[in-house]
Amino acid sequence: MSLPPSIAHLPARRPELTALLLRWCNQNSGSDHPAGLAVMLALLETAFRRLPGAAVERVPLAGTAAQLLRIRVRPDAKIRLLLSGHYDTVYGAGDPFQTCDFLSDDKLRGPGTADMKGGLLTLLAALEAFEQTPHASRLGYEVLLNPDEETGSFGAAPVFAEIAPTCTFGLVFEPARPNGDLVQSRKGTGNFTAVSHGRAAHAASPTRAGRNAIAALAEFLADAHRLPDTMPGVLLNIGNISGGGPATNVVPDQARAQLDIRITRLSERAAVLARLQDLAAPINARDGHRLEITGGFNRPPMESSPAAAAVFAAWQDAGRALALPPFNWVHTGGASDGNTLFAAGLPCLDGLGPIGDRLHSPEEWVQPSSIMERAQLAALVLHRIAAGEVTLPAP
Ligand SMILES: [Zn+2]
Repeated sequence: MSLPPSIAHLPARRPELTALLLRWCNQNSGSDHPAGLAVMLALLETAFRRLPGAAVERVPLAGTAAQLLRIRVRPDAKIRLLLSGHYDTVYGAGDPFQTCDFLSDDKLRGPGTADMKGGLLTLLAALEAFEQTPHASRLGYEVLLNPDEETGSFGAAPVFAEIAPTCTFGLVFEPARPNGDLVQSRKGTGNFTAVSHGRAAHAASPTRAGRNAIAALAEFLADAHRLPDTMPGVLLNIGNISGGGPATNVVPDQARAQLDIRITRLSERAAVLARLQDLAAPINARDGHRLEITGGFNRPPMESSPAAAAVFAAWQDAGRALALPPFNWVHTGGASDGNTLFAAGLPCLDGLGPIGDRLHSPEEWVQPSSIMERAQLAALVLHRIAAGEVTLPAP
């Protein structure tokens, strides 16, 4: 197989692209830092404008000052891909983790190096290489760069939902697993609050008039914590708890806890909600007690699909053609905009970014050489799709 020169040339771009990654990662763009996000947006706009013929647009989002960057290339092409990434990180302006350093020649530690400025760079480098391949004119794409992914994509989800149906397939450049595997499916996530209402009274009330909201909540939480034992595929984490006041001689009339609940299949959503209500029912049946559950699932699971399996096979084929180490694809508990796209009805393949680990911690790192490799992989698959060597399943 003869590799298009622009794809073969990618590893040679490593010094230049690594310098760009350092610039991006040393720029804070925490989800809650609008000024930092604005600077990062401008950096990305400059970089993605290098794509020939790109229409670059800033899209305002509801509920946030941050803007989504939309890059459109050949909107009239018959095959159109949706390529997604996010440029926010979990590290706010006040976080001590603000800059990059090299732990070794091929291990760069820094905020967002893997999740996912390294992925954005992989995407950019892949597209630059792809644009110089002979059949590029047959393939169109939309790049959507999201500023609120780490907080649940509440602003960006409607934009994804609007554009997804106009595309054939989605590619998500979240980091690969530390062993190089891609992402086959992701759990759906939900945030819930359990609020227990009781009745205040003196702790020594001779009639035992009080109804202890903390005790009722504790009962509910002990049961909820065991819920995954009987529902494989479901995860439930009690994230925090509060209740009562400063005085311990008062029966507390209020307590609350927040839960993170994850599901593997969409069909589990209703079952989990019903189980939570079942657990609350005996408490609600008691005189003077009330236990409310609010919240919901913000991201449904990203499930595997035949279309995704076909594109994954194309990715593996490209890996063999490039003589890269073999990789598989796996299920993961964390959500991404792959969930957002799947919810919008678009099948997608996720985890196409570089190899890295320790995301969301001050030890986050990326392997710079893998940015070049994953960019080569993506560019080669795009080239093969454009050349008609890889056929995308009909939506
Ligand atoms: Zn991410």
